[in-house]
Amino acid sequence: MNFADSEIVGAILTKEHYTITKDIDQADYILINTCAIRDNAEQRIRKRLHELKALQRQRQWVKIGILGCMAERLQKQLMEEEDNVSFIVGPDAYRKLPDMLAHIHDGEKLAETLLSDSETYADIDPVRYDTNGISAYISIMRGCQNYCAYCVVPYTRGRERSRDPQTIVHEARELFEKGYREVTLLGQNVNSYRWHSENGDVGFPELMAMVADVNPLLRVRFATSHPKDLSDELLQVMARYDNICKCIHLPVQSGSERMLKLMNRRYTPEWYLNRIDAIRHYLPDCSITTDVIAGFCGETEEDHQATLEMFRKVRYDYAYMFKFSMRPNTYAEKHMQDDVPDVVKTRRLEEIIALQGEIALENNKKEVGKTFEVLIEGVSHRSEQQLFGRNSQNKVIVFDRGDMKPGQYVNVRVVRCTSATLIGEVEK
Ligand code: SAH
Ligand code: SF4
Repeated sequence: MNFADSEIVGAILTKEHYTITKDIDQADYILINTCAIRDNAEQRIRKRLHELKALQRQRQWVKIGILGCMAERLQKQLMEEEDNVSFIVGPDAYRKLPDMLAHIHDGEKLAETLLSDSETYADIDPVRYDTNGISAYISIMRGCQNYCAYCVVPYTRGRERSRDPQTIVHEARELFEKGYREVTLLGQNVNSYRWHSENGDVGFPELMAMVADVNPLLRVRFATSHPKDLSDELLQVMARYDNICKCIHLPVQSGSERMLKLMNRRYTPEWYLNRIDAIRHYLPDCSITTDVIAGFCGETEEDHQATLEMFRKVRYDYAYMFKFSMRPNTYAEKHMQDDVPDVVKTRRLEEIIALQGEIALENNKKEVGKTFEVLIEGVSHRSEQQLFGRNSQNKVIVFDRGDMKPGQYVNVRVVRCTSATLIGEVEK
């Protein structure tokens, strides 16, 4: 999501005659887009700011700006604590950037952090940088108001709002015409996407169909689905279109009913498993991935075992696994105790990681011998002689280069695997 936001910032600034450089020694302004989701994300930014002091000593005119969630969360406090920061801009204030840069004087500090109920940057055509020219993100909504007890997002990104579907389809079409072959529609809870218009409402299943209709050669992915809102209707639309990828990211967070309640996730393990059954029913070859938090407030050994049990039942293809980090202003911070000792959190996280590693390997082994349509994304990081791409299930497949090029679709038969990668041969 931050990547997509940086592309919007790039568009806003290049329209005002600024140019983007990847070479930090060429830059007059350094903009750091930030995440506030866990404490370690913020600590990394603090470290980066410290490292940039050496550069600023040599090139004293260089100004540093902090963008995004950390700017929103810390506002003026950040400028007081970090003396080399000149401006901070929250996620809904990027349009103010050109004006700020034009008017900021040496030694001055500026901040724009007002959140909006309506800003979606719908009219802005993001500048795609640092991409493979094949896959792109499209932001379809902003903000979140689910208020999961552990989560800082509702406080840093404001209320949920959806973007005009026509502008989304237009962006997808333009990307396709430029040679892109895959778009990922982004939102904190895409299932609650809704656009009201005189001609009727557009919900997420309809939006998916509209984007999939742009061209059968354009793959469509999405993230993230909140389990409480994942509808059968969406699964039916996914089944209808070959170019809607068969991969669902369904963050579980915990396998314990008690924990889910404390987290304010608004589903039970039973409901979650019912959604997994629905996915398997409509989309038998769909991969399922998740997010999980180890060591949330009050988590007992029994709760942790319930999470491991959930992993055994669902058999995820991939998981993003985190240790709970208490975030300021959240419900948890105000009303709960961060009472699971760090060593226990670490041990529980390691147990989840180890189990997931075994499951991913077993899942991948089942793919050996199968043939998948792969969208080629680029040259393999390991060898110049190999290309890599993904199948519909979002699994990375590596294979010999031959005379193929990124952006092409090829059929690849899987011959070997690791827990993270499939290795295959192109079918002639
Ligand atoms: N909107 C998405 C999640 C976005 S945040 C959803 O609801 O699924 C991405 C992930 O970060 C979350 O799914 C959660 O697993 C993790 N996360 C969020 N807050 C956290 C915290 N305080 N400590 C640890 N992990 C956290
Ligand atoms: Fe955070 Fe919950 Fe919103 Fe996801 S749904 S962004 S976890 S508050």
